[in-house]
Amino acid sequence: MYERFHIGTKPSPLAYTLPAKFDVQARKLRLAAMLVHEAFEFRFKKDVVLSRPCIYGVFGGRFGGFKPIKEKCVGCMRCVQEYPHIMTVKLSEPYKRLGDSYWTPDSIFTILYEASTGKIPVKGMGYKGSFGGEGFDDMWTDMSEIVRPTRDGVYGREYISTVVDIGRKPQSLEFGRDNVLGAVETVPVPIPIIFDLPLGSNEQVLRAASSAAAELKTFSVAPLGDSSGEPSTNNVPFISGKNDAEGRAEFLKKSRIIEYDPDKPGLRNKLREKTRSVVFAARLPLDDEVEEVALQLVREGVEALHVYADYHGMDYSRSPRHIARALKTLHGRLVKETVRDQVTIIASGGITLAEHVPKAVICGADLVAVDTSLLVALQAEFQGETRSRTDCKLNPRAIDPAWGSQRIVNLMASWHDQLVEILSAMGIRDVRRLRGDVGRSMLDSELREQAFEGMPWATV
Ligand code: SF4
Repeated sequence: MYERFHIGTKPSPLAYTLPAKFDVQARKLRLAAMLVHEAFEFRFKKDVVLSRPCIYGVFGGRFGGFKPIKEKCVGCMRCVQEYPHIMTVKLSEPYKRLGDSYWTPDSIFTILYEASTGKIPVKGMGYKGSFGGEGFDDMWTDMSEIVRPTRDGVYGREYISTVVDIGRKPQSLEFGRDNVLGAVETVPVPIPIIFDLPLGSNEQVLRAASSAAAELKTFSVAPLGDSSGEPSTNNVPFISGKNDAEGRAEFLKKSRIIEYDPDKPGLRNKLREKTRSVVFAARLPLDDEVEEVALQLVREGVEALHVYADYHGMDYSRSPRHIARALKTLHGRLVKETVRDQVTIIASGGITLAEHVPKAVICGADLVAVDTSLLVALQAEFQGETRSRTDCKLNPRAIDPAWGSQRIVNLMASWHDQLVEILSAMGIRDVRRLRGDVGRSMLDSELREQAFEGMPWATV
């Protein structure tokens, strides 16, 4: 029966307190003078006098504006506009210290909001940021308003599919007398996102990701040694050595996808003997050799490639490129060699915001694997730079797995809605059609090069 894909969300508030985003300060003497004046104006109604002018309740505490409840401030600036001689509102110092060189305080708050509510963050008041930048911010996507009336987004009448298939697709079909010969073995995923938690994630975080993956009908990758609890069809074990799988036969039997290290000769064949009906995904770094290695693996019959950059989205080549550029090159090479449709590409590293998913797909990935974003949603602590895959300074906290699972589900619901919005704005009804469609994007850096080429005085 036809069923529209829907992710159920539930409010899941923060478990650990966050620093207030805004630092609200009032000049006390001037405030006192104003209160005396307003006390007469509002006939000594204490509640009214102490709570004005903020409708969010920042001045609603026992001491009113003398001790504002800074956590409630949303930065609307009404108080500053009405009483510029009394009020000052600025970003707080603890807020500015959040994150690292890649994770900005704003992106952390965005993830936390999405994980708490499952909603799309609405900034309002117009966009005040820059229109270009590094990495994914260098890319603009096509939002042709002309198609909007027929593709009206999350609440629209037309269904927009976000299903992708993981596995090897046959290039032709062979027909028997009554049926198609040979099974098409792909694994469908309702959203183009799987989970790939960083090393060192604790037991509770792994359980939360595994349970969220099961609810969303997607997958969660973890080294086989880290797989705990019950074997689940939604867990993807990563196997890096021939002996890793010893004694874990029940995990392999349940798995529908297995990731393995293609550097270990014969590993895939050995695993294939143990488990016949699974999709194998070779996990390999995006580096200078990735195109040749990928090509060889596809010709050997591997079903999927999980290519990864570091957690800041930079690849491992001698002159590091952003994952967007590395993916484009890899996708282009496989297209040129006419093998691209045979293999699924999963990309990970630096995918930390909802808009990065369609951008990675435009660059050639079939789907993405999210990593540090999951830990941020679960309120992990930043203890330095999060770039390294072997030494990521993002420390998971002790959590209730059920709480964590709901927050991951909420985060994915928000990202799914944003993906549907962007597809609808492009007039695309199926995310699979977006793969490698670079005509849907423009690069700010390329446009600048074209516009200012040959002008030595221009800053490109
Ligand atoms: S900026 Fe807005 S939310 Fe913050 S204290 Fe002033 S009026 Fe209240």
